[in-house]
Amino acid sequence: MRPFDLICFDVDGTLVVHPEEKIVWEILNHRFTGDDLVNVSRFEQYRQGEITYAEWVALDVAGWLRAGANRAEIIAAIAELRLVDGAHETLAELHRRGYKLGIISGTLDIVLETLLPEHPFDDVFVNRLRFDEKQVLVGCDPTPYDVDGKARALREIALRERIPIERCAFVGDAFNDVEVAREAGFAVAFNPKCQELARVCDVTVRAAHLGALLRYFPDGDDDAIAG
Ligand SMILES: [Mg+2]
Repeated sequence: MRPFDLICFDVDGTLVVHPEEKIVWEILNHRFTGDDLVNVSRFEQYRQGEITYAEWVALDVAGWLRAGANRAEIIAAIAELRLVDGAHETLAELHRRGYKLGIISGTLDIVLETLLPEHPFDDVFVNRLRFDEKQVLVGCDPTPYDVDGKARALREIALRERIPIERCAFVGDAFNDVEVAREAGFAVAFNPKCQELARVCDVTVRAAHLGALLRYFPDGDDDAIAG
């Protein structure tokens, strides 16, 4: 029998990779402000409780707004990112096996729209960029569901779908996945960049191909075939 009903994924570092392990925020801060140091300083301010998550988002996006960023420039910049090997076929196979799939991520909607437009996810919790009619960036609606909020998003989906939390799985790679990994019935640290995440997850998978996950999410049809 299928051991879980829902699998939620992180995006940057999990489904989407960068040769230097950069995430979309770092790429766009560099492209539009030339400043790589703000990534570290703002993360530290956030960690110390000096700024909220929404303020962190607003500070980064303000730099892109000052540079007059538009959709085409953002899409050109995120060409540094690519889908992890096997993403399409693995997600399609998990979907075929009957798992409900979701995204709970601190990425930007434009990353998924660009790299994975025909995705199998029922729920997509991400930050959303706003553009005017000329496709010039005008702002960003910050997700309330990053970092500790990821755990809340998982609980909300589980409640709505009437799925026990023990039958909800999560796959992620970084510090912002720790709380949701604790919450989920089964958590996978996929190529983790954070020791704490590896500690709280049920398994750690180090692989270049997303298909390495499939062994943990077997086909529910086995049961049906057995009658
Ligand atoms: Mg990540």
